[in-house]
Amino acid sequence: RAPGSADNRGDNIKVVVRCRPPSSEEVKAGYPIVVAVNSVHRTITVKDPSTDASKVYTFDHAFGADSTQPDIFNQVARPIIDNVLEGYNGTIFAYGQTGSGKTFTMEGVSDKPELRGIIPNSFVHIFGHISKAEDNKRFLVRVSYFEIYKEQIRDLLAKKGDRDRAGNANILEIKEDKLKGVYVKDLSEQVVYSADDLDRIMAVGKKNRVTAATKMNLHSSRSHAIFTVIVEKSERRSDGSVHLCVGKLNLVDLAGSERQTKTEATDDRLKEAAKINHGLSNLGNVIAALTDGKSTHVPYRNSKLTRILQDSLGGNSKTVMCANVGPAGYNYDETVNTLRYATRAK
Ligand code: ADP
Ligand code: MG
Repeated sequence: RAPGSADNRGDNIKVVVRCRPPSSEEVKAGYPIVVAVNSVHRTITVKDPSTDASKVYTFDHAFGADSTQPDIFNQVARPIIDNVLEGYNGTIFAYGQTGSGKTFTMEGVSDKPELRGIIPNSFVHIFGHISKAEDNKRFLVRVSYFEIYKEQIRDLLAKKGDRDRAGNANILEIKEDKLKGVYVKDLSEQVVYSADDLDRIMAVGKKNRVTAATKMNLHSSRSHAIFTVIVEKSERRSDGSVHLCVGKLNLVDLAGSERQTKTEATDDRLKEAAKINHGLSNLGNVIAALTDGKSTHVPYRNSKLTRILQDSLGGNSKTVMCANVGPAGYNYDETVNTLRYATRAK
């Protein structure tokens, strides 16, 4: 089926919300808490600190400050990964303003097992599944890791020779052919043999991200990081035939959704901001077109992110958008923006 055909909508695109606990600084400063989550009713209520007016939003799941990383994994990620193990594609997005918990949700805290996020928990789940598989099944797990910054694609697992003099990975191009579909040319892939391998790969990726940017925070808040896991399964049937299936899982830590234009409004910064806002709003348009079921045109080609993920959005692919918000009153405007964006994706 053509990607983007909308006949499987409903179950295949889910939108969840997660509100992080107040940070110790927020507690110390005594900021009002304006967000309340009801996980049973799947609602999140936000109170305007200047008028006290409240608005309620409903999603497929709502996770509050007391939700754990395993809660998120089991309810949000596990169904998608089980689907990938059956040969389908899936994508999980973390959306929200900088500081709202996107990276905590996707990666978590690597040296605290109970705080590990969706990416490491996915690997534990995938390799657990492989270790229990029957003898006639063989698996190969490969990963790639790249970022999109100012609509430029950089390989986060690039080797030394694939770098320019500043240590930045070369900018890669999107290609398309009949056999492979849409792909990133020369993107490196690494075979992963165990869940532990992953830590090493993530560390390399993070280091490359830092090398590429002098201002790490600015950079990571303005680039999309896309971690892709490809699971190939070959199965020998009793008649001797071998069946191959391939599933792809994309785990995407999106650029910060905050309005980028108000500070440091130099020409360059404005152009950069426009590109980020364009990428995120185009992703919103793609998901909205897939969920409304009426759109005949899905604007995949309007941004690099959606173009690359085209075969993993829509059709038989499962997608989850996790909207992350902070609980404090000073984030009110951005929190409402995030919930509106997420509502449009439902
Ligand atoms: P983002 O990636 O959206 O900029 P981070 O994931 O870096 O945000 O989160 C900002 C801070 O809040 C980090 O110190 C992170 O550890 C903490 N944090 C985020 N979400 C949670 C959570 N659910 N529970 C505890 N701490 C969290
Ligand atoms: Mg982050």
